[in-house]
Amino acid sequence: MNLNELNKQPDMKKDSSKMPVLFVGHGSPMNAIEDNEFSKGWTAIGNSIPKPEYILCVSAHWETMGTYVTAMENPQTIHDFGGFPKELYEVEYPAPGSPELARKTVNNVEKTEVKPDKKWGLDHGTWSILKHMYPDADIPVIQLSLDYGKNPQYHYELAKELAFLRKKGVLIIGSGNIVHNLRVVDWRNTNGGYDWAVEANSKIKNLILNNEHMQLTEYNKLGKEFELAVPTPEHFLPLLYALALKEENENVVFFNDKTVLGSLSMTSVIIN
Ligand code: ZN
Repeated sequence: MNLNELNKQPDMKKDSSKMPVLFVGHGSPMNAIEDNEFSKGWTAIGNSIPKPEYILCVSAHWETMGTYVTAMENPQTIHDFGGFPKELYEVEYPAPGSPELARKTVNNVEKTEVKPDKKWGLDHGTWSILKHMYPDADIPVIQLSLDYGKNPQYHYELAKELAFLRKKGVLIIGSGNIVHNLRVVDWRNTNGGYDWAVEANSKIKNLILNNEHMQLTEYNKLGKEFELAVPTPEHFLPLLYALALKEENENVVFFNDKTVLGSLSMTSVIIN
């Protein structure tokens, strides 16, 4: 299904009492300032779903020991990358934070002690996408960190405890990349992926469509291509956060479904 079909789907807004959930492949930070097929896809998604009251983002780029949630009034825009044009470092995403939503998250998660954080802000996993989805930066945004000491199953179970937020107007976004291997990126190949990357991405998509979430938490057992496709967990885990929130009667639709630069898949998911 492409985005045009997605926009025509009458049931995209079927249950206004519950927000959809997104997993977004964010790719290169340059997507933040480029007008390309991926940034256009993010804009289209922002226009297709009910406007959220709040956003909670689980970004691949905030790993901590323990689990934290940003709890400041005005999160800073973090330029957490190196070697890009000056223009990208000048981007600001001045969305407010929400100490109140942070507190609700802290109070409702029982799996672990979620601690409030006053130092982080919004990293590019969050703002590069939101800049296109909600350019006015008028929706309060908080981030939840990834505990690097925990296994995928743990993250999947923790994510389930965020389900209550969907009914409170909160758009939950996991931001990462299903296939993400920067060591073998081919910068000249802007339009395609290595065989193993395409293969791994397609296996993951089939498991998503078949609701095989347990197999997804054991992605390292899925085949040799996963050693290359998911060499480290942080870009894959945000996908598990999104899938854990899928209810039985909900649909999954892919968008920006493409592998680029050899080893990076932009495949994104909306659950509704
Ligand atoms: Zn990234």
